[in-house]
Amino acid sequence: VSEQPNWGSPEQGAGRRVLVVEDDEAIAVQLERGLSRAGYEVTRATTAAQALAAEPPDAVILDLGLPDLDGLAVCGQLRARSPVAILVVTAREAEADRVAALDLGADDYLVKPFGFAELLARLRAALRRSLPATGAAEVVRAGELTVDLRARRVLVAGREVPLTGKEFDLIAVLAEDPGRALSRQEIFERAWDAHWYGPTKVLDVHVAALRRKLGRPELIETVYGVGFRLRAGA
Ligand code: CA
Repeated sequence: VSEQPNWGSPEQGAGRRVLVVEDDEAIAVQLERGLSRAGYEVTRATTAAQALAAEPPDAVILDLGLPDLDGLAVCGQLRARSPVAILVVTAREAEADRVAALDLGADDYLVKPFGFAELLARLRAALRRSLPATGAAEVVRAGELTVDLRARRVLVAGREVPLTGKEFDLIAVLAEDPGRALSRQEIFERAWDAHWYGPTKVLDVHVAALRRKLGRPELIETVYGVGFRLRAGA
């Protein structure tokens, strides 16, 4: 990690689980500290065996030079079992290695030394790509609420609720994982498809409109100091 890290806001990771696979203790400690400050839940592995035995995370930051097995093989095995976001980090500059990592299913590739802000940005992008696939259901049911992601329709107790495009985008983001709290920043990045550093009042306006139209305001729960979540059960 080459430069003074830009830690970012603590809410950007929003409790996403990141597995750092790195045998260089100094680099691993620095990554863990920076990612934790950015709001990620970090676990560490120093060998390929540990990485493959770990609880499945949301994202993996994977060093290629591991003591027991080549990181490229680890990349292939991780990808074979899940759509987890994989960010490969290595000192190897050879194009052949980058191509091999991408062919084996890595989402992205960073050559050491790299800036921490860049790592965070690439991690966010990789997570955005992988997470919708993780919650692959096209029709989400949470109690009386049905969200049909493919047809872009929402029903409450069997009655269709007409929504604007942005209101649907908002409920679709929340419906990808009912019961999980999403930070305001994360909702913005995904429903508005943009980085947002200004006031997020427009989010409250859309949530209020959505609650009113659904006629069941309790379906979208406010998580104080964080953001919102879709109520998981009835
Ligand atoms: Ca290494």
